[in-house]
Amino acid sequence: MLTWLKSHLPGGGLTAFISHSTCLQHNMGVGHPECPERLVAIRDQLKAAQIFDSLNEVEAPQVSEQQLARVHPPHYVEYIESCAPSVGTFRVDPDTAMNPGTLPAALHAAGAVIKAVDMVMSREAPNAFCAIRPPGHHAESAKAMGFCFFNNIAVGVAHALSQHRLERVAVIDFDVHHGNGTEEIFRDDPRVLMVSTFQHPFYPYCGEVPLGSNMLNVPLKAGSTGREFREAVEYQWLPRLHEFKPQMIFISAGFDAHREDDMGSLGLVEADYEWVTRQLMMVAAEHSEGRIVSALEGGYDLSSLARSVTAHVKVLSDG
Ligand SMILES: [Zn+2]
Repeated sequence: MLTWLKSHLPGGGLTAFISHSTCLQHNMGVGHPECPERLVAIRDQLKAAQIFDSLNEVEAPQVSEQQLARVHPPHYVEYIESCAPSVGTFRVDPDTAMNPGTLPAALHAAGAVIKAVDMVMSREAPNAFCAIRPPGHHAESAKAMGFCFFNNIAVGVAHALSQHRLERVAVIDFDVHHGNGTEEIFRDDPRVLMVSTFQHPFYPYCGEVPLGSNMLNVPLKAGSTGREFREAVEYQWLPRLHEFKPQMIFISAGFDAHREDDMGSLGLVEADYEWVTRQLMMVAAEHSEGRIVSALEGGYDLSSLARSVTAHVKVLSDG
């Protein structure tokens, strides 16, 4: 009933849940933490929590060459294409490998964020969550690293700026790792404000000194919990966001800062992800006509990942 009502209210519509089956085919080998089961766990938990049926499930298109080229130079895209193996795996860095399923997954992951931007801009959806892999925020304009090939969020941001002619967008990144790729791509771009928290010192061992004045980087010491995270959001992110007045909010939604995730050493819990999502919804309501596009980055403990995504998506879909 609630689903029917929301989809029939003027200006309503359901939160879009954008994914693609190719995202399950990318596999970096047995035991690799960035595994296809992550997406399965997320979907299962959204169903168990009875949230999945209140979402608009959408199949991601493949990103176009032109859409990728706004962020990644053609020589880099050609390099990634040339690395794609027809059998076996090809390693692009010690942690990051391509199998035959990787390139289609990467193209659809970036395409999902493009689709999310289009749906939110056209008011087909109030906001969107992209359940995608490979993740993107470590990918620099011409460098694959840290499980990332194409910078999905950056491709979406560039689409919003170029295709939809937005003048100010914000990128929020609460992954346990610093989003070095997004920072490198948008450094000193006055149309983009990036605010982030991340464990430091920690992979990728940068971020403490921001690359540009449009970057608000808040490093958190190992062992920091929701208290330190919420202070960073409340006293640093929110004032900058309100001052910037973004027309759209992008979230690099990594959940590896959860206390049960062994990848990092921060102590966030589901309630923190729920709280920060609510804060961002309020900023979006005030400045961005509610427009939020969120895309999965990290999160490797399957149970806490699925519970945290569910907390995040529940707030997005409750409006
Ligand atoms: Zn991460």
